[in-house]
Amino acid sequence: MPLRTATAITHWCWEKIFIDKSGVTIKEKGSGINQTCSFLWIYTGFPASSYEGVNTEVVRENSGRALAKRDKVNADLVCGIPDSGIAHAIGYAMESGLPYRRALVKYTPGYGRSYTPPSQETRDLVAKMKLIPIQEIIKGKRVVICDDSIVRGTQFKNYTIKKLKECGVKGIHLRIACPPLMFPCKFNFSTRSIHELAARKAIKALEGKDIKDVSEYIDENSSKHKKMVEWIRKDLDVDSLQYQKLDDMIEAIGLQKEKLCQYCWTGKQP
Ligand code: SF4
Repeated sequence: MPLRTATAITHWCWEKIFIDKSGVTIKEKGSGINQTCSFLWIYTGFPASSYEGVNTEVVRENSGRALAKRDKVNADLVCGIPDSGIAHAIGYAMESGLPYRRALVKYTPGYGRSYTPPSQETRDLVAKMKLIPIQEIIKGKRVVICDDSIVRGTQFKNYTIKKLKECGVKGIHLRIACPPLMFPCKFNFSTRSIHELAARKAIKALEGKDIKDVSEYIDENSSKHKKMVEWIRKDLDVDSLQYQKLDDMIEAIGLQKEKLCQYCWTGKQP
């Protein structure tokens, strides 16, 4: 019997109520729309768990397949950033026919999956000890690396990419299982602030200032979106960078769009 994690905490159906001695007064009625966090399947969910009857690991494999279908890159192998990136990479490997290799292994297998630690000091420590490359697998190879998301990008930039280059990698092609993160979690599920997000840093650099309306950058077909992705690619110093399309991510999950919270990417609430 697979482990099933409670889904109640992932559902949003807000209602404002006021409670005093005289009883409960509804101040604002809920929308009646019930949505589940899409990030559960992409990043935070336990692989053996199913949410809304949909298994996490299977979604990640679907997601990797979707990434590979849109990809034309020439590479020698695929690897995933542990833990959730592994399943995305396995899906990518199955679709592309490239071999899956463990180019990066986790130094602390017991380190629990969680959102990013709150202090930079703790983040640096965790980042430093997090991933160890296997030189014998990487040297002289063009590597596709799959991961769930790019939040700040500091882990990739300051540690993972540097370590891979020190091991003599020939090419790094980063494939991300969700679109660029544009907004912090509306429901305080993560500690990221809007200004820390890699996409926001790119927009600020391209515009010369912070801007409120980022709709053109969210539009996956716009030239601004492409420029933003290219800025992030250069900042990370990788050979190519490809994000998952929003619709492909939703198709990989397999639930109706209306049933999924996508606020992190679209900034839209029900
Ligand atoms: S805002 Fe993002 S992390 Fe928060 S519930 Fe929605 S999809 Fe999940």
